[in-house]
Amino acid sequence: MYKLRPNITQSTKMANWVDILRSHYNWCLNDRLTQYAQQFIQGDYCDIRTKSLACPLTCFVSKNGASGEPWKSSGDKNPRRNAGMIQDAALPELKKARPWYGGIDSTVLQQNVKRLDIAYKNFFDGRGFPKFKNRSNFTSFTFVMGVKVQGNKIYLPKLGWMRFYNSRPIPDGFKIKAATIRKRQDGWYVSIRIEDKAIPDYIARPLSDVKSIIGCDLGITKLVHLSDNHQIDNPKLLTNKKTKRVLKIRQRRVNRKVKGSNNRKKAATNVGRLHKNIADKRQAYQWKTANKIVARNVDAIAVENLNVSAMKRRCKPKIDEETGRFLKNGQSRKRGLNRSISDVSWSDLILKIEYLAAKHGKVVIKINPKHTSQKCQNCGHIDASNRDGEKFICTQCGYLAHADINAAKNIRDRAFSIVLGDSKELEPQGSKRPKNCKEISRCSVSKRREPGNLSNQDIKIAIS
Ligand SMILES: [Zn+2]
Repeated sequence: MYKLRPNITQSTKMANWVDILRSHYNWCLNDRLTQYAQQFIQGDYCDIRTKSLACPLTCFVSKNGASGEPWKSSGDKNPRRNAGMIQDAALPELKKARPWYGGIDSTVLQQNVKRLDIAYKNFFDGRGFPKFKNRSNFTSFTFVMGVKVQGNKIYLPKLGWMRFYNSRPIPDGFKIKAATIRKRQDGWYVSIRIEDKAIPDYIARPLSDVKSIIGCDLGITKLVHLSDNHQIDNPKLLTNKKTKRVLKIRQRRVNRKVKGSNNRKKAATNVGRLHKNIADKRQAYQWKTANKIVARNVDAIAVENLNVSAMKRRCKPKIDEETGRFLKNGQSRKRGLNRSISDVSWSDLILKIEYLAAKHGKVVIKINPKHTSQKCQNCGHIDASNRDGEKFICTQCGYLAHADINAAKNIRDRAFSIVLGDSKELEPQGSKRPKNCKEISRCSVSKRREPGNLSNQDIKIAIS
């Protein structure tokens, strides 16, 4: 990630682009939603052509929405265009109808449609439904063509040459594949994706080759507990006492200013900057931690497959049946925990571990986290009362250990059983649950995957 040094014309232009692109993104999303509603909820569901379609993405975009031609011209295997292609094809007409779109580079607009496609794809892969974007969560756009770098200047189509801090020169022989411009609290940044075809792919180690595994138990009091008795501290960048106080004071300053005033804006930037600093520090710390773990002399790294959003879910409301009033449900207590979970951001750390592991030819094995903290390392007894704060005392054999290290060892053992192809370990032994209870194995061996949209040969230098 490089920091850009745009002149005033360029930065106003870029801010303007982000606003237009956001409205374009929302318009495209709304278009698809309208189409879906017309096609499948109220409308002519029984139409022969649309009957076979089960999902809205393959639908064509509404006639009175986008001016889309739903069929491809050539005799393709799948003659129906998908929504992304239609909205892509509609761009020239859109530009005619809204001349201000003309100022934006066309590949940027196409990438914007693609961004919505990716959001839909993620949704079908089990993630959340695409959201309408607002100022805070839509801050970037991507060039895929025409970007050039010369010394400390970068050329961006339609924006022209712009100075930037070339803090890490692009190595020779690499081609620029894409450049993403992002607005952050203290200015504009660019991250560049580069590729060199001459560099071979990383070679993934087959699972049967794995001889040694290290287990990682992710936590809040300590960030990581490793099965070799090591612990890595949690810096608690956002949730420590001092930062919390500073944040509260600065936020109060914002709240006291008159709404819409310049002073309020200034105070708000101040808060934003603090958040940005914390985010940067967290990134740096996570890379350091991931490096520490991956650099260990093992073939594989075992982590829990955590469902963080389920952990952060709100408590169910409790209602007093007589009066109909809401009772305390523990949410206010849970809020603090949720903030701590957001602050450690385990999923980001796991992504970094996966990225570095792939680079070192190591494997990341994700295991089902069930009972890992309640099972005894010594005799395999599972009981919630085994755990007493940080200590682990087995109620059956008296085995004494650090609770989280015990968990890390369980994680390691479970990963070993996956490697050996023994799925017995997945079933809780001696569990009190009824036998016919469904045990869904959520274990999966993660494929060699790198964060972001990288293909094998792409190397991201956007590691800030
Ligand atoms: Zn025991």
